[in-house]
Amino acid sequence: MNIQEILIFSENPDTLVELLTAGRTLFGPAGGRVTAVTIGPTTTEVARDCLVRGADQALVIQTGAASLPAENGLVLGLLEAIRATDPDTILIGATRTGTDVVAQLAQALEVPCASNCMKLRRDEDGNLEIERRVYGGRFTATQVLMGRPQIASIPPNRFPKADLVQEAHGSIKEVVVELPPPRIRVKATLPRVRSAVDVTKAEVIVAAGRGVKKVEDLSLLDTLASALGGVLAGTRPLTGDVDWLPIDRRVGLSGQTVKPNLYIACGISGQIEHIVGMKGARTVVAINNDPKAPIHAEADYSIIGDLYEIVPAFLDAYERTKRT
Ligand SMILES: Cc1cc2nc3c(=O)[nH]c(=O)nc-3n(C[C@H](O)[C@H](O)[C@H](O)COP(=O)(O)OP(=O)(O)OC[C@H]3O[C@@H](n4cnc5c(N)ncnc54)[C@H](O)[C@@H]3O)c2cc1C
Repeated sequence: MNIQEILIFSENPDTLVELLTAGRTLFGPAGGRVTAVTIGPTTTEVARDCLVRGADQALVIQTGAASLPAENGLVLGLLEAIRATDPDTILIGATRTGTDVVAQLAQALEVPCASNCMKLRRDEDGNLEIERRVYGGRFTATQVLMGRPQIASIPPNRFPKADLVQEAHGSIKEVVVELPPPRIRVKATLPRVRSAVDVTKAEVIVAAGRGVKKVEDLSLLDTLASALGGVLAGTRPLTGDVDWLPIDRRVGLSGQTVKPNLYIACGISGQIEHIVGMKGARTVVAINNDPKAPIHAEADYSIIGDLYEIVPAFLDAYERTKRT
């Protein structure tokens, strides 16, 4: 049996080293090799990080561009990396950019790809078998990819970052790729207004749903979050339909994937598009006045009641406990 050649790429350095862990789970009995690909002007540092975390090789694709190339440029860089390594499997981080890249790459190679995979393994024939959510997250499909190379994208935070190894053994190889002139001219780029907090890194999250009636009521949940040393996040209606919270605080399919120790869902029904983003939470507390709300099935502790009574009562009790 051949050893597995696995190529990993994400423009996000954290996701790239998570893919390193994902790639290793696919090694067969004969073992495997993971090559990390970095593309862009300042990626040698990222390549080094992959090596000290055990990557067997890092390919630094130099394009001469002053910034990260557009998606078609990334695909051209990856095609060069594929020519150099002839991988069995390609894993791409399912970031916004990666989601475009993976589809274009599969089309260029005329092979299938599976996006947003939650689990990966090899089937008995050595093909990549994945699990991913389909139909808006209502079902989990198990699919086997045929053809070669087999391409899958994996959401950020799905796997832990690869640990540092005692002795790095891999090497860095530079490959120069000349990109054609861009097909899109960027007229202006405006910085995204970001909130001061990163919900993906939070240990405690208090999440607000449509059970919150007015924007000013969010301060109640913000107080709860602060008391517990956490941050406030929300569902899509609050982070999109009404913009009460910035979009980078949205948890779910079209938002962030979070993995806190404690997730307190306040006035959230628990639709699957929300659940996929918080399923990794260690302990889930649901406060919802509808006993039939699906969120209760996801919760370790369910409180069936009005958040406007429960949260102040909790804060009151919490403050009293702290004083004693
Ligand atoms: C393609 C797609 C992507 C999506 N992506 C996301 C995503 O990333 N994140 C996301 O969150 N959603 C997403 N959605 C939307 C998702 O389907 C749901 O509509 C949304 O999660 C519902 O938000 P909610 O729970 O706040 O509101 P609702 O479903 O309206 O639930 C409100 C809940 O509050 C409870 N409630 C009301 N008053 C109180 C009270 N006083 N005390 C306690 N409980 C109370 C009610 O019983 C109810 O269960 C997506 C949808 C689509 C189609």
